[in-house]
Amino acid sequence: DAKRRGDGCPSVFDSGMEVALEERLRLERELRVAIDEGQLRLYVQPQVDAEEVVFGAEALVRWEHPRRGLVSPGVFIPLAEQSGLIVRLGEWVLEMACRTLAEWSGHPELGHCRLSVNVSVQQFQQPDFVDQVLSVLTRHDVSPHRLTLELTESLLMEELDDVIGKMALLRRMGIRFALDDFGTGYSSLAYLKALPLDTLKIDVAFVRDLTQDPLAQPIARTIVTLAEQLALKVVAEGVETQEQLAILQELGCGGFQGFLFARPQPVGDMLAWVRSRSAVVPLPRQC
Ligand code: C2E
Ligand code: MG
Ligand code: MG
Ligand code: MG
Repeated sequence: DAKRRGDGCPSVFDSGMEVALEERLRLERELRVAIDEGQLRLYVQPQVDAEEVVFGAEALVRWEHPRRGLVSPGVFIPLAEQSGLIVRLGEWVLEMACRTLAEWSGHPELGHCRLSVNVSVQQFQQPDFVDQVLSVLTRHDVSPHRLTLELTESLLMEELDDVIGKMALLRRMGIRFALDDFGTGYSSLAYLKALPLDTLKIDVAFVRDLTQDPLAQPIARTIVTLAEQLALKVVAEGVETQEQLAILQELGCGGFQGFLFARPQPVGDMLAWVRSRSAVVPLPRQC
């Protein structure tokens, strides 16, 4: 697309592109309304440890469009980023995530669970981002230790000292950081050492290829080894089959997320999910 080519706008308009542009502008207008009128929904996808015990979940936003139904973030997050709406959308997600953590505190099955929240570059770059995060946590009386922020390698294109400074401040309060989609972006290993990270997330694409592409396993192995060397945790995303799980466990991966365990679900369904699971696996240790 035009953005990827790097030249602000498309040079030639054909009617297809015009339709696509109109469609995009309409969706963008609708997204603005959606945020104001409460059409966003917080979904969560459980994360389990090496013993397959749930330790947390990732917050994944959905848009319940009045006519189109459930719209996937793959469609509207890029739109939100292009239009700047991502800042308000991100604030909404953070607010809901903290509210959820406060609710979970009241349940023995969920009181130990962490929530992992995706943060876009633009949101992270807000001058008051640190204050905002801390004030939402305080307002909901939630310990910072229960919040993880997921950043992507695209953040590393920004002023690195600023990025590290903000991360360090938040981390000192107890917030943890995960690097999302690791290995799909442009990060250099030098950056990786400089960032105050806690977790690397192996991208869905590497996990999907594990049983098909002979190169996927060495890549996954390298990420796990790298994480070990840097004293980081690893969470594999997109685990769909027992076979993928077995390979990742064999490699020493310590955390898993994927359809094999659970699909992203409305946040209100999490308690029932955990209860149905604890019927077959022992309850987690409190931590
Ligand atoms: P992500 O943060 O890398 O999230 C993981 C994606 O993998 C999610 O897609 C999840 O539904 C999908 N996934 C999980 N397990 C499986 C599996 O077993 N198989 C397959 N095929 N896919 C699996 P989703 O929910 O569509 O979100 C897509 C992306 O949208 C996210 O990727 C993230 O980059 C972005 N996103 C979602 N929610 C937010 C948000 O609240 N804020 C921001 N800034 N971005 C968000
Ligand atoms: Mg993520
Ligand atoms: Mg990811
Ligand atoms: Mg992604």
